[in-house]
Amino acid sequence: MKKEAGTPVYSNEAPPLILIVDDLHQNLAVLGNILRTEGHQLAIANNGRQAISIALAKNPDLILLDIAMPDLDGLSACRMLKENKLTKDIPVIFLTARTEPEDILKGFEAGAVDYITKPFKAGELLARVSTHLELKKSRDIIIKQKNELTEALATKDKLFSIISHDLKSPFSGLMLMSKLLVENFESFEKNDLLDSITLIRDTADQVHELMQNLLSWARLQNESLSYNPTKLSLAQEVNKTTEVLRLNSAKKAITIDCNISSSYSVFADADLLRIIFHNLIGNAIKFSKNDSIVEISAELDDGYVISYVKDKGIGIPAEKIDGIFKDSPGKSTAGTANEIGSGLGLVLCREMVEKMGGTIGVESEQGAGSTFWFTLPVD
Ligand code: ADP
Repeated sequence: MKKEAGTPVYSNEAPPLILIVDDLHQNLAVLGNILRTEGHQLAIANNGRQAISIALAKNPDLILLDIAMPDLDGLSACRMLKENKLTKDIPVIFLTARTEPEDILKGFEAGAVDYITKPFKAGELLARVSTHLELKKSRDIIIKQKNELTEALATKDKLFSIISHDLKSPFSGLMLMSKLLVENFESFEKNDLLDSITLIRDTADQVHELMQNLLSWARLQNESLSYNPTKLSLAQEVNKTTEVLRLNSAKKAITIDCNISSSYSVFADADLLRIIFHNLIGNAIKFSKNDSIVEISAELDDGYVISYVKDKGIGIPAEKIDGIFKDSPGKSTAGTANEIGSGLGLVLCREMVEKMGGTIGVESEQGAGSTFWFTLPVD
């Protein structure tokens, strides 16, 4: 549908902000009166310098800029606006009494998108303003979509890289081990058989865990992960997770000591909370040596519950801590029993904690152990 000239463009949003720049108050008054009839918001500057500082501070949707002004003229101000990455995308329309072709050309060369001649004619002014506001709006939408697309491509790349690096090798191992078993079944001693089957089971567990993280992460990126925060007992959720991880802790004779008051409840999504604890407690087990202890505790702090997962494991080198919650390549270290990882778990934890309104962090000393913590709102 064709839009009538002068129809407000941003009907359901805040009205667009237009910066008008002229050294003559009479011109500003005329412009202001015409533009206000359309409900536009206005910012006013009397010279080029003021225009630049207001443009930087208020990021207007459009600038109407007089050419002939003392101090800093419109052409120079426009060039400066176009050179600054914060203001270069704001469309500039020149206001000019001059209709000589070379003056108009100079305006376009300085970066203007259009010009309006004085004395102002309300219809023409509003039509040009409306056209450029619409163009700017369309451009903003394209830039937003481009950024979303870039993000989606990065997600896809990450998925492919995890699938090719982190899933391929354990699957090759599984295939090789089971092939050996099938082909040499008769010649295996009973104990060797048990060793091989145990190895297959452990590898399958690790791949399964990685797959679950991968799927949750992919779904979180697409915002289609169902999100249903409710009142949850923190101690109960931790107990459910430690139960699932019991085999991992038992294999390394690691004691899991959970010391959380049964009165603590959080407002959180049960699936997300379970994935967070699964990753943090799973890591604590993975990076602890045999016969160690993992302590899980919590405390109240100003409307939030802080949960702690503390281990006495290998710790994290200081230079690695900064990037630990970021999606950085080469982040993953094998566990003390050579457990594989993807470097995805903590990125996932951060995204999930933030989605539920909390923050996450870690304190760690190499060789002494790590304490991961995260906050969630109290219910
Ligand atoms: P993954 O464990 O699959 O590699 P994570 O994102 O869970 O991925 O962890 C990233 C890295 O952070 C690990 O590979 C390890 O180097 C370090 N890390 C995480 N938790 C601990 C921990 N409790 N103790 C020591 N290092 C840890």
